[in-house]
Amino acid sequence: MNHHVVSHHALMPIALRPEHIVMARGEGSWLWDEQGRRYLDMVQGWAVNSLGHGHPALVAAITAQAHTLMNPSPAFYNRPAMTLAHQLAESSGLAHVFFANSGAEANEGAIKLARKWGRLHREGAWKIITFADSFHGRTLATMSASGKAGWDTMFAPQVPGFPKARLNDLASVESLVDAETVAIMLEPVQGESGVWPATPAFLQGLRALCDREGMLLICDEVQTGVGRTGRLFAHQAAGVAADIMTLGKGLGGGLPLAALLASESASCFAPGEQGGTFNGNPLCVSAGVAVMTEIGRSGFLQEVAAKGANFAQGLRSLAERHTLGEVRGEGLLLALELGDRDGAGLVTRARDRADTGLLINAPRPHCLRFMPALTISREEIDQCCAMLDELLAG
Ligand SMILES: *Cc1c(COP(=O)(O)O)cnc(C)c1O
Repeated sequence: MNHHVVSHHALMPIALRPEHIVMARGEGSWLWDEQGRRYLDMVQGWAVNSLGHGHPALVAAITAQAHTLMNPSPAFYNRPAMTLAHQLAESSGLAHVFFANSGAEANEGAIKLARKWGRLHREGAWKIITFADSFHGRTLATMSASGKAGWDTMFAPQVPGFPKARLNDLASVESLVDAETVAIMLEPVQGESGVWPATPAFLQGLRALCDREGMLLICDEVQTGVGRTGRLFAHQAAGVAADIMTLGKGLGGGLPLAALLASESASCFAPGEQGGTFNGNPLCVSAGVAVMTEIGRSGFLQEVAAKGANFAQGLRSLAERHTLGEVRGEGLLLALELGDRDGAGLVTRARDRADTGLLINAPRPHCLRFMPALTISREEIDQCCAMLDELLAG
């Protein structure tokens, strides 16, 4: 069978994808389709390819691991899982790590852990305050935790117990706390809703509220963690500690890998209460070790922060020249408000532009989001800004 004549029709139509493009190859910040057209990739699989496409250290790590051992089953320890758990625990200050296969699964684990902790320590308190416009995943519980418009009815009934407060409005959180509230869960920067950072004062206020009321603070760092904002974990910028943190996206450098981390006192699963067939398999976890090792190199995160500041400056001058709106975000998680311009239209024109395509994302109708490889060069950032300049003028 000639695979070039196989159509896409057997794939469940869960997204509107361009019919004329089949992606074939990637290197660093660049993708090539089957026609040989190249694209500057400022999305990177939704912020998962933290080291870009095909990073040599990552490829070497998973190639060696594939030849050695891919899955001894979660019933046994394996060396890469022990190594990555150690790296994450050391760098986060959290005692224990559970590996999962997606951000949603890690967040499900966080929700279960908080409920278990409430049963043990808070007379069965079980509700978790989350936020309007938040995003925590696509399983039933994480959709219920999310504050995305329309998601409350899409697959009703919801999983109960996720009252919604407003980001950066401490009073809106306080007014929801009752005897059954066990935790507060938030993204330090709301990613899917268009890059809206929680302020340091707000995070500090949540920490104090949790301490006062005996609640857990859960940071969903699935998008913001692992260097994305120029720090290893975004909530560290506010100088607060989380009791529970989840990671995903960039952790596996493109492979499915996520993690649930908990402090010694919050880590209360008994054997048998949490698990999963593929969880902590050496192949995916070895990718995580390679990512953490690269990001941990001296100067790497400073470089992410510096390139992010450069990029933000470039976006700000575009905003000025084309009378757009504000630029938000930290490190290499940035958004550009477009005023009344159509984001989806711009995304399509950027992708299909002559010669070289540009891959960007519009999480909201008039907002662009950028989440390039953490290894992107300054020249590539300049290329992106030049292409945007031309598109905005056209
Ligand atoms: C992407 C994302 C998730 C879901 O991760 P999946 O791997 O798609 O399940 C959860 N939380 C946040 C903040 C995310 O950005």
